[in-house]
Amino acid sequence: MKQHLLLLTLLATTLAASAQLKPRPDAFPPIAETLATKAITMASSVDEMASWDRYPTYETYVAMMQRWAEQYPEICSLDTIGTSVQGRLILAVQIEGQRLADVYKPQFFYSSTIHGDEVTGYVMMLRLIDTLLASYGNSPRLTALVDEMGIYINPLANPDGTYRRGNHTVRGAIRYNADTVDLNRTFPDPFSGVAAKAVPQENQAMIDYVSAHRFRLSANLHGGAEVMNYPWDSFTSTMRPHPEAEWWQEVCKRFVDTCRLQSRSYLRDVTESGYTAGGDWYIIPGGRQDYMNHYHNCLELTMEISTAKTVPSEQLPTYWHYLNAALINYIEEIRTLPESAGIAESECLAAKIYPNPTCSHVIVSGLPAGSTTALYNMAGHRLGTYSVETAPLQLDLQSLPQGIYLLRTAGTAVKIVKH
Ligand SMILES: [Zn+2]
Repeated sequence: MKQHLLLLTLLATTLAASAQLKPRPDAFPPIAETLATKAITMASSVDEMASWDRYPTYETYVAMMQRWAEQYPEICSLDTIGTSVQGRLILAVQIEGQRLADVYKPQFFYSSTIHGDEVTGYVMMLRLIDTLLASYGNSPRLTALVDEMGIYINPLANPDGTYRRGNHTVRGAIRYNADTVDLNRTFPDPFSGVAAKAVPQENQAMIDYVSAHRFRLSANLHGGAEVMNYPWDSFTSTMRPHPEAEWWQEVCKRFVDTCRLQSRSYLRDVTESGYTAGGDWYIIPGGRQDYMNHYHNCLELTMEISTAKTVPSEQLPTYWHYLNAALINYIEEIRTLPESAGIAESECLAAKIYPNPTCSHVIVSGLPAGSTTALYNMAGHRLGTYSVETAPLQLDLQSLPQGIYLLRTAGTAVKIVKH
């Protein structure tokens, strides 16, 4: 989960300010350490994962990832995002059918367990990989999905935290990496200046990886609560709503409704709706969600999927039962992306904007005559609409405060930096 222990002292204030929200579960004694030790069963071979009611040892995990790439070479390849402080591998599989070098496909990214003790999502991601691969050529729906896009899945973003007591067990897993750093507080923060701090090794590897791709939609899976947490984490929704807040609410509602077909009581321990704007729950700096949304124009959602961080292994199939349809549906949400959202700057070849950054004016060229373009701030407020009659278009930004703005035309969004 995304909470921070420092907030313990603020608990009384938080409760008073937002009585409808459940207090953070980790404000209470840690869950993982109090879990009965026999509740965790490990799989020390790939075969022992067959029923999906165990956690893999580290070696089993690596073997599973390798075996998928060997079994399904046409649609699955294994990537190494990087290594952890203690030298464990941070892995991802790329699942994509009908690979054609000259055809652009949207890219989707799932990543789990950046907090090492929040391991429910770890096994959910492994099982999702298995499902997608085994369904290719058998399920028309999933075959179409795998052909349509690149699906990247990183089941374990913080292996040192998960295997703190050794590769043979997830018992005693911790939230932090081996340097006791919270990886979900140390991404470059577009709003609070956290970028000035040292970026941990695991995060630098993740930054390099996502920078080398063009992910349009992603999710980061956590545990310790049950709620869909959409951006921003750095602000309350009244301070600064995400430009696509309405879309997020629709996506979250579809996710929650799908899960509740299996269990009506699921995803209710923070809000009745099952979702919240992140900052309305509590504000955090340096999280990956805001980093992805802001710096990569990638719409990323934080999924808190189990009240317990380290659920008893025999309950893992139950969580899969709740989640599997919704996890697949969420990948398909790439088809519903708002037209102007999530477009990487490198894709916006039509519009050329210069100088950028600017302190006064920008010239916009390359937009077709007759088209319309609009300027937004990062809160999603439209500041002006412009018809392109004679190119190039000149925009005067002198009256605007310093910051980042989006110029949106049908199907594209280009950042303009005012300094
Ligand atoms: Zn977490």
